[in-house]
Amino acid sequence: MLNRAKTNRIVVASRNKGKLIEIKEMLKDTDIEVVSVDDFYGIPRLVEDGQTFEENALCKARAISQILNMTALADDSGLEVDFLKGLPGVKSARFAGEHANDEENNKKLLRLLEGVPFEDRKARFRCVIAMVCSDGREYKTEGFCDGYITLEPRGSNGFGYDPIFWIPEFNMTFGEMEPGIKNNISHRAKALSEMVKIIKREII
Ligand code: IMP
Repeated sequence: MLNRAKTNRIVVASRNKGKLIEIKEMLKDTDIEVVSVDDFYGIPRLVEDGQTFEENALCKARAISQILNMTALADDSGLEVDFLKGLPGVKSARFAGEHANDEENNKKLLRLLEGVPFEDRKARFRCVIAMVCSDGREYKTEGFCDGYITLEPRGSNGFGYDPIFWIPEFNMTFGEMEPGIKNNISHRAKALSEMVKIIKREII
């Protein structure tokens, strides 16, 4: 059977292959072709220096939409710890320094929470996805995932803060969780499924 040509295209302003696969999967039964900024030459690396996830996501989506004159999707996400008044927040990727790795970021966070009792270690992952259409329309969705910061890392799945983020409903950290389950309940999955509803309503 011949595949029907897709009639609309959305460019994802992320170089993360995992994110692209997730978005493609959720839009596979639609008329939308999902492509990556990596499919185009000469797209500059965008600086993420906004004060909020919203600012960063919108800024990236606007820039890519303007450069390519296409509908663009961008996300920004991170961890907010209540005891630290929302830190690391937009600084999640570089919490322990400009070139810090996941282990260094986790160590810094655990150090800052030393002596803090478990019930005061509440945190949430937050993700904002922005879509900017070639005609200028803008949309934004958000997803959360609530949990607690553990006393020490547990599990080796996932990335970033996953080994120190414990989810009460599952009694495990993201680091201990099967990726398939995490991808169903995560902040990103929630924001993405809301955005897919908008795409199906507004773009198709
Ligand atoms: P970005 O939105 O992909 O740039 O993510 C920013 C940073 O937030 C990552 O480098 C991680 O440190 C953290 N982060 C975002 N989502 C997750 C997650 O699902 N698990 C663990 N860390 C995350």
